Amino acid sequence: MLKVNGLKVNYGSIEAVKGVDFEVKENDIVTLIGANGAGKSTILKTVAGLIKPAEGKIEFMGDDITGFETSNIISRGITLVPEGRRVFPDMTVLENIKIGAYLRKDSLSNDIEWIYSLFPRLKERHWQHAGTLSGGEQQMLALARALMSRPKLLMMDEPSLGLAPIIVKGIFEIINEIQKSGVTVLLIEQNANMALNAASYAYVLETGRVMLKGSGKELLADESVREAYLGKN
Ligand code: ATP
Repeated sequence: MLKVNGLKVNYGSIEAVKGVDFEVKENDIVTLIGANGAGKSTILKTVAGLIKPAEGKIEFMGDDITGFETSNIISRGITLVPEGRRVFPDMTVLENIKIGAYLRKDSLSNDIEWIYSLFPRLKERHWQHAGTLSGGEQQMLALARALMSRPKLLMMDEPSLGLAPIIVKGIFEIINEIQKSGVTVLLIEQNANMALNAASYAYVLETGRVMLKGSGKELLADESVREAYLGKN
């Protein structure tokens, strides 16, 4: 579904991504893990069209989308949930959800029902200003808003950041449900344990390069991954 080849991304003279290849197959959950600064966010932003690559090719559903505008990329079915759950604080939960569908012209009511079935808490709180939601609820709202664009590929930047373990578990349960409903997921995470457990396939990034790849299970069992990312020997 998504094929990235030889991707290089620079910020001025800083080489953030130094020739990365990876692939996301339809209906998989794929994760990119790695330390801070490895280039994970930069890769997602580049796929989403927010940053232009210096080199390389990004193919989605057989089309070359390298360097395309974000609106074009969203309309093809790729949506990014950025890090830091950027909801609109002074708008209600429901208004935030509806904004996610701004590029659509069809009826939204079925999708709002679908969103409410995935996130009953958001249904209960549809009238509440998003800025007054808890951190976990804001992450769910950011996810819900992204789903309203009906993505084929949902990309998530650190959905578990700063959340309590029990909330993180809930977020991963929802990610699994989203995948079961037919959406492909590309996820970047500091929480390597949760991410590798959820992922069908995973890539380990270090300073702008892919150092290791394999199924979630293989990487969970890998000695170097355990030492570096899972806090176990
Ligand atoms: P984190 O988990 O900390 O977000 P990451 O793996 O997502 O890390 P990136 O945010 O992609 O890493 O950053 C990769 C490199 O690019 C880092 O060295 C970072 O300092 C640099 N970088 C990121 N954004 C910018 C920017 N806007 N301008 C300059 N350098 C940047």
